[in-house]
Amino acid sequence: MTSNLYDRLLAGAESDQSICIEKDDGAALSYADLAALSGRFANFLARTGIGPNHRVAVKAEKSVEAVALYLATLRTGAVYLPLNTAYTPTETEYFIRDAQPTLIVCDPREEADLRAIAAKAGGRVETLDHHGKGSLTDAVADFPARFDTVARANDDLAAILYTSGTTGRSKGAMLTHGNLSSNALTLVEEWRYSSKDVLIHALPIYHVHGLFVACNVTLAARARILFMQKFDAERILATMARSTVLMGVPTFYVRLLESANLNERSTANMRLFVAGSAPLLAETHRAWKERTGHAILERYGMTETGMIASNPYEGPRIAGSVGRPLPAVEVRVTDPETGAPLPVGDVGMIEVKGPNVFAGYWNMPDKTAAEFRPDGFFITGDLGKLDANGYLHIVGRGKDLIITGGVNVYPKEIETEIDAIPGVSESAVVGVPHADFGEGVTAAVVRSPGSSVDERAILAALSGRLARFKQPKRVVFVDGLPRNAMGKVQKNVLRERFADIYSGRA
Ligand code: AMP
Repeated sequence: MTSNLYDRLLAGAESDQSICIEKDDGAALSYADLAALSGRFANFLARTGIGPNHRVAVKAEKSVEAVALYLATLRTGAVYLPLNTAYTPTETEYFIRDAQPTLIVCDPREEADLRAIAAKAGGRVETLDHHGKGSLTDAVADFPARFDTVARANDDLAAILYTSGTTGRSKGAMLTHGNLSSNALTLVEEWRYSSKDVLIHALPIYHVHGLFVACNVTLAARARILFMQKFDAERILATMARSTVLMGVPTFYVRLLESANLNERSTANMRLFVAGSAPLLAETHRAWKERTGHAILERYGMTETGMIASNPYEGPRIAGSVGRPLPAVEVRVTDPETGAPLPVGDVGMIEVKGPNVFAGYWNMPDKTAAEFRPDGFFITGDLGKLDANGYLHIVGRGKDLIITGGVNVYPKEIETEIDAIPGVSESAVVGVPHADFGEGVTAAVVRSPGSSVDERAILAALSGRLARFKQPKRVVFVDGLPRNAMGKVQKNVLRERFADIYSGRA
């Protein structure tokens, strides 16, 4: 066995007949089936010349075949590059140009767009739809199921995941086989995962949460995945009687709490509810405990680091805290300016070091260097404090990130687009409380003199430019942006001013 993540997760799976993934339509694949399917995909990739360090970009809907493609990419030694399916062609083009993938797999509906991009940036295009059908599936059908997984070392690249940049430019976080396997194997232990577990999987698989946490952990434990195309509260509730684990963003839990069917009885078979990707309100934690008797286990992580901290499986799960650092992961809180460690209880920059921390940003050595301390700690950009019991509390986001429905949105990118619209003088984008999404993307816009541009015109202009989840839910016109003495826009003032804008709307 080498350090290839595939081997670490699935060595010997080819003779394991236990069920691995059950689909929405009830069809099931065993571990042996998944090993064989990934073998066919890997043989196809290898035949097209894909091998160590080539990038395979995948902008496809969730399907079992997409999981097989992810595993196949690992098996060939190539680098998996999942892309959010909501990205517009303009956004997608940036990623393709930056990462230079050898193969681009997309939904058939986007084939023309991706072919146009590939014609300029290079790369072969194949299709894969949400049923797992497409030119790629057709092409792999005749390839053999057996494939000798290519040996990889811990430091070799396994995946690149793009994070939106605060300065507008997205950065590709390079994750190694060692990063991903250490994190998955640690979580299997920490969350007491076993082959008896059945995971409700309703997350997307282009993000660290749905792919590296939900899939890798469940595969490593040889447990079962119930694959749902998208979040559906009533379907999830109906499935709980034969499931044991749910992993979700806080919005999942808020939505499930709205159902009259959520109670102790409907959740009696479940042993673990995990939340992450955005802050879980202490209020949601308490309401869940009251209705179901279960304490949600909140954990904290990010694209660049995988999971960093988790509330304990046994022991107090503290509402409003993300728990203790995972084994082998070091967390410290420092003065954001000087980097000097701060005493327990003081709020500062959260920094992380460990086998989970990424290898740097693709093609951005300067950005990478700027985000690491000389002693190897990664500066997360999140502000928080450690308490006397070693629990970490996140208090804010130094990077001004908005998290809406569990997805990150960086204001700068939206402001740049709004500012380019004729009739706009300047803008500032903030996240304000939204009952359904956690935070709603909200734009404050100053019109140019004499301009009569309105909310509709701004939203229309953004619709082809930005993925839907990034588009503001409201645009508010103001006479000027509040600024401090240094000329910096005071976003806290805007957040306060718009604090109630969504109350009663959701
Ligand atoms: P991403 O890279 O998309 O996974 O986003 C990572 C960011 O999400 C982190 O830097 C945090 O700001 C935020 N985040 C993730 N989990 C939590 C959590 N449990 N509580 C608060 N913020 C979180």
